[in-house]
Amino acid sequence: MLLAGTVIADSGTVVEDGAVVVEGDTIAAVGERATLVDEHPDHERTGYDIIAPGVVGGHVHSVQSLGRGIADDAPLLDWLFDHVLPMEAGLGAEGMRLGAELGYLECIESGVTTVVDHLSVHHADEAFEAAADIGIRARMGKVLMDKDCPEGLREDADEALAESEDLIRRYHGDRDGRIGYAVTPRFAVSCTEECLRGARELADAYDGVRIHTHASENRDEIAAVEKDTGMRNIHWLNEVGLTGEDVVLAHCVHTDESEREVLAETGTHVTYCPSSNMKLASGIAPIPDYVRRGINVALGNDGPPCNNTLDPFTEMRQASLLQKVDALDATTTPAELVLEMATANGARAAGFDRVGKLREGWKADVVGLTTDITRATPLHDPLSHLVFAAHGDDVEFTMVDGEVLYRDGELLTGDAVDVRERAREFDVPAA
Ligand SMILES: [Zn+2]
Repeated sequence: MLLAGTVIADSGTVVEDGAVVVEGDTIAAVGERATLVDEHPDHERTGYDIIAPGVVGGHVHSVQSLGRGIADDAPLLDWLFDHVLPMEAGLGAEGMRLGAELGYLECIESGVTTVVDHLSVHHADEAFEAAADIGIRARMGKVLMDKDCPEGLREDADEALAESEDLIRRYHGDRDGRIGYAVTPRFAVSCTEECLRGARELADAYDGVRIHTHASENRDEIAAVEKDTGMRNIHWLNEVGLTGEDVVLAHCVHTDESEREVLAETGTHVTYCPSSNMKLASGIAPIPDYVRRGINVALGNDGPPCNNTLDPFTEMRQASLLQKVDALDATTTPAELVLEMATANGARAAGFDRVGKLREGWKADVVGLTTDITRATPLHDPLSHLVFAAHGDDVEFTMVDGEVLYRDGELLTGDAVDVRERAREFDVPAA
């Protein structure tokens, strides 16, 4: 397939009147349209106003999609323990499957091709099946909770880790590597030391398995961890093995100097979730400082009940604006940096090689957007448009691994109307 349009190949490369040639699951060429049309005369041709790398949602809770709007205007720990966890506890297999389908549908419709997905305690297999069926690239795992959580979610650490191992054997590397496993403790508050150390051992036992958890999102959370362990949260996670180049920590809003040194020295990835941090009034993550230290920063929407949208373009805009007002410096977090977070940095955090840029030999995860809209007229700078003005609704085309998942308003790998219909009918627990 030859995709023609203004190609934003990565945060530093824009080709006006360009094209991307896709062969199998791989990008075969990126360059000037006229040249590539000459060189590849037999490829099926299609065009979009902007062709860009698929967005990487660096931290999402697909299965919480059924709970959008059930817990607005509540602080994090009330939001979690009074609303979201009771919902998750009551979802059942059908709810997990449906929540995941709904979440992935919204992602694909709005240009997200990869997710780092924090599932739930029970029926995680349903979300793995949903991801494989719809075709999204996903780093995902069953959530571990073995203390300080609602009765319906608490498990014995050994049993929870054994189930995680079973899921690794069943799904890690599924769909030619589109699906990868992450061992997923909820956060230090709800996991014993045995559970956290067990998560590290399990990840080490399987090639390519990663670790994904929440960290230092909220002041009450870090106070609870400090009370239990006598340590700052990041130091505690480092102590039990949950830092390193295979670890993605969502949030890291409240970290001190010594914790930031640990994040940088260990190569731990951080996912910035600005809308969630604003809506839950958690605080402002020190992203420019992390970037200066060389910490890899990805970008994530977090869950629908704390955002309340999975639109990645809105998130890019928020990501930049929040840092600018915090620094009182309009040069902070330029569009190029934010696009990098939302694509290549996210893929690095998720542990997918050759994903996140449109480059020859890289995976064909590509999106196409329209700019034939008032909001994009006149279009002075396509990259600026993508970060500051584009919207998920502008996406017309979504491809993962060379497979077209979505085209011109239609999901090709599932029945979107049926998913929405079942979600409307579903009796959401605790809602
Ligand atoms: Zn989260």
